Amino acid sequence: MAVAIRGEIGVNERLQGRGMTSGRTRARMVDRLIKQGIEDNKVLAVMGEIPRHIFVDEALASRSYEDTALPIGHNQTISQPYIVAKMTELLLENGPLSKVLEIGTGCGYQTAILATLIEKIYSVERIAPLLKTAKNNLWDLKIKNVSYQYSDGGWGWSEQAPFDGILVSAAPAEIPETLLRQMAIGGVMLIPVGSRHQQLHKVTRTENGYDDEILEPVSFVPFLSGKK
Ligand code: SAH
Repeated sequence: MAVAIRGEIGVNERLQGRGMTSGRTRARMVDRLIKQGIEDNKVLAVMGEIPRHIFVDEALASRSYEDTALPIGHNQTISQPYIVAKMTELLLENGPLSKVLEIGTGCGYQTAILATLIEKIYSVERIAPLLKTAKNNLWDLKIKNVSYQYSDGGWGWSEQAPFDGILVSAAPAEIPETLLRQMAIGGVMLIPVGSRHQQLHKVTRTENGYDDEILEPVSFVPFLSGKK
């Protein structure tokens, strides 16, 4: 019993943070996002709520609100706050979404942001230990509207398709056909594309095909096939 109570306090303290991981530091990050051009108040509010520091190793926690990607192990990174906010804003630009597929769960930070704004998230990751950590992080935050799959996201999640939104956090050389086919009509996909030089694409599925908008240069880890 005593152990359980201590455990509970530990989690709460960790969520709350202090100093460089406090709510004030998070508020400064939000101010910076506004200066960088993020306008959607719902997105800004969630970025101000979700404790980003719990998604990185304790040794890096004090740097977690800097505008930079940080290592999360297994050669992967947590995306920088600006790109998480920007992709979320673009995903929601055409109106609210109810069913979103995320490829590249990583540490689960982007997942937590999406899950706070969208009814149901389906998240796929190809590195098992990362997926496990992400699940634990979202559990600590009491986020329950996420289904996870340990798989190669190149296959999408056909049993749950079509999706009205798809967000991809790793860069393939070309947009995977399978993911295009799993979009609903009117659905939108945010995806970094390219090998050496990547661009963020926003693809919208129309009645007759797909609109592909190229938005800005980005830098993501590569989209790799197979499970690890
Ligand atoms: N949104 C994540 C970003 C993690 S980095 C975060 O904020 O933490 C990108 C992730 O995509 C990595 O975890 C990597 O393993 C994963 N990834 C790369 N290719 C993939 C694929 N084909 N299927 C599923 N996940 C993939």
